[in-house]
Amino acid sequence: MSQVSAGKDILSYCNKCKMALSHTITVMKDINTVGKVMCNTCKGVHAYKDPNAAAKKATRKKSTSPGRKSASAKAELLENKWQADVMGSKNEPQKYSPKSQFVIGDIIDHPKFGMGVVEATMEADKLDILFQTGNKILVHNK
Ligand SMILES: [Zn+2]
Repeated sequence: MSQVSAGKDILSYCNKCKMALSHTITVMKDINTVGKVMCNTCKGVHAYKDPNAAAKKATRKKSTSPGRKSASAKAELLENKWQADVMGSKNEPQKYSPKSQFVIGDIIDHPKFGMGVVEATMEADKLDILFQTGNKILVHNK
């Protein structure tokens, strides 16, 4: 921080305006530390608040909780889809082997990933399979 003193303008977070705004310094705590500022917008006098610190706090609050929520909601959605597609299918589960050929809608019994449903085929030898833990790309038709 350079050359701050009473009467000069500084960017501070304003609690009333709820944003970082230009403030006039009214009181200095010491030669390098701003004490009180007056908001140039609402004319309110309050302690100086570093706008970067205030903004960081606000965005962190916003981003963590809904982010976590949507991630688990997505996992739940995937699990529901897997339940409906695999458990609801009339197709007989087939043992997975890279030598076999599968088509969309086939139910696959994989030794490691468990039961899955072929959601898409890619190129000549790749399968996009939805397992309980998520989608996996496996080869077939080798
Ligand atoms: Zn203000």
